[in-house]
Amino acid sequence: MFTVSGAGKDSIIGTQLGYGMKIREMFGRGRPLFSFEFFPAKTPEGERQLFQTLAELKGLGPDFVSVTYGAGGSARGKSVEWVERIGREVGLEAMAHLTCADSSRYDLEITLQKLQGKTQNILALRGDPPRGQKRFEPAPGGFSHANELVAFIRERFGDTFCLGGAAYPEGHPESDSLQSDLANLRLKVEAGLDFLITQLFFDNQHYFRFVERLERMGVGVPVVAGIMPVTNAAQVWRFTKMCGASIPASLLSDLEKAGEDESAVLQVGVEYATGQVEELLAQGAPGIHFYTLNKSPASRRVLENLKRAGVQRRGQ
Ligand code: FAD
Repeated sequence: MFTVSGAGKDSIIGTQLGYGMKIREMFGRGRPLFSFEFFPAKTPEGERQLFQTLAELKGLGPDFVSVTYGAGGSARGKSVEWVERIGREVGLEAMAHLTCADSSRYDLEITLQKLQGKTQNILALRGDPPRGQKRFEPAPGGFSHANELVAFIRERFGDTFCLGGAAYPEGHPESDSLQSDLANLRLKVEAGLDFLITQLFFDNQHYFRFVERLERMGVGVPVVAGIMPVTNAAQVWRFTKMCGASIPASLLSDLEKAGEDESAVLQVGVEYATGQVEELLAQGAPGIHFYTLNKSPASRRVLENLKRAGVQRRGQ
């Protein structure tokens, strides 16, 4: 276990007590959670790389990992299988993402039945419109918004699953305003969410203001911060364009200076994310969710940096 000194209270990261546990129970331990997000591998080479990444990151003791569902064209059909394999073969609690895209209520119920016994944790999402389309169209007999999926899971499966949902500190790209997005987010939480994970952001002030607004609205669930250490300048442009996250001028200028030099870009991304996570933990964020893109070096280096900057193994 690691303790983060200078975080106000003695916060601890890095246990593997989470396997087979509901995430909402993990928040009660008085230290921030940390987790890694993966997408299901499609090819034998991708599978080899994913297992290697999982093995490397398991050593850092994440509380849980999560497996995306059809995100960015990834293999949706393989999500349930990967959730099961990560639990059985790697020994980590794998939260399953689930979206309403292309699924009727019946399809969703079948997938949820398959997930029973494989995970206790689901990230309940609407899903993005298919590439090239602006609007999300529900499948016949399906749902238009994540709050309907959350209500459906609670109605059919009661408390079998701990449920997380997505949150957008800079507003969801389809929303007219952050105000209306927050009102919709409240509906989703009231439908039965236990916690939220944010879209990636590079400016912590967006997160702090967002959490403050939720608190003022009486929405009291933990809001885990989604962090993506930049490893590739072109990729970050693509993601931020897609999800609407802004890039602060200082990060932009450092990335420009790094130019085409991949290791310099990685260095910039790791240093920047380290600073973000340090500040988030110091201000009491209940958890950090790393978007790994199935690679370990960046997240690993951020955690190593944190350790060097005052994070010590408990009992050492
Ligand atoms: P919703 O909560 O339904 O919100 C979507 C939009 O509709 C928002 O603008 C909201 O304000 C509005 N809205 C919500 N409820 C209502 C309502 N009742 N009436 C009117 N308007 C409403 N996508 C994938 O395909 N697979 C993944 O695995 C995946 N993982 C993700 C993980 C995280 C942590 C995050 C942050 C996002 C993830 N996404 C994933 C992307 C997500 O599917 C998209 O951002 C999607 O566009 C919105 O999903 P949502 O669950 O937030 O939708």
